[in-house]
Amino acid sequence: MIDKKQLSEYLVQAGIPQSETVIEKSDRFAAMLVERNKVVNLTAITDPEGVAVKHLLDSLLVFRYVDFAQGAKVIDVGCGAGFPSMPMLIARNDLQMTFLDSTGKKLAFIEDCLTELNLEAAVLHARAEEQAKKNVSRETYDFAVARAVANLRSLCELTLPFVKVGGCFAALKGKEGKEEWEQAQNAIAQLGGKTENVFAYTLPDASERNLILIKKISQTPTKYPRASTAIIKKPL
Ligand code: SAM
Repeated sequence: MIDKKQLSEYLVQAGIPQSETVIEKSDRFAAMLVERNKVVNLTAITDPEGVAVKHLLDSLLVFRYVDFAQGAKVIDVGCGAGFPSMPMLIARNDLQMTFLDSTGKKLAFIEDCLTELNLEAAVLHARAEEQAKKNVSRETYDFAVARAVANLRSLCELTLPFVKVGGCFAALKGKEGKEEWEQAQNAIAQLGGKTENVFAYTLPDASERNLILIKKISQTPTKYPRASTAIIKKPL
């Protein structure tokens, strides 16, 4: 499906080389995505180069900026068809990954991929703002990750309640990321976060990216997250 040699080279250039098995599994995942996309709307990007760069590489670049300890517990909030979580898990099957999304059809695809690729993970069909209220999930993750789910101000409220004090939230953003981050200062502070870093970079196709890394420095007040209407209409 994808140009495996090219993906491998991109990853070497990024300083995150991957084994042949990881590249093979990434290619298999890409093929499954494009195939399932014929019956369920999962992605607008289906050309091999687009899938390799804008989905696989884009997801894996998180490893260039964030150090995930062996066996770290990670939740992808609004994982959709598995970005960034599935490429991350393929590359690092030691991670304890949770895929969370409110759309069942996307999670059915995730389940099929996990079986096909022989990977283990938790799959949660829920709204983030409801799941984060539950003790079983609240402040239990070393990391939350999210890509293309909501504006950072709202997104922080959907993700930071999942993260333990001492853990981090990595938001994978496009070129708007820096501006969103500037506007999210109050939200970050209110939810118990502190910005660790904002990394700006470009993909090989020149699209701009920002990875915003927020550390959880104190517990999130129990009143957060609020109901979805409040989160969207009155972001912190
Ligand atoms: N992260 C994936 C990616 O980058 O391709 C999917 C992005 S898609 C545009 C946004 C996803 O977030 C959708 O699958 C949607 O169902 C999910 N989502 C949005 N709000 C959510 C919420 N409050 N709780 C759980 N999932 C949510």
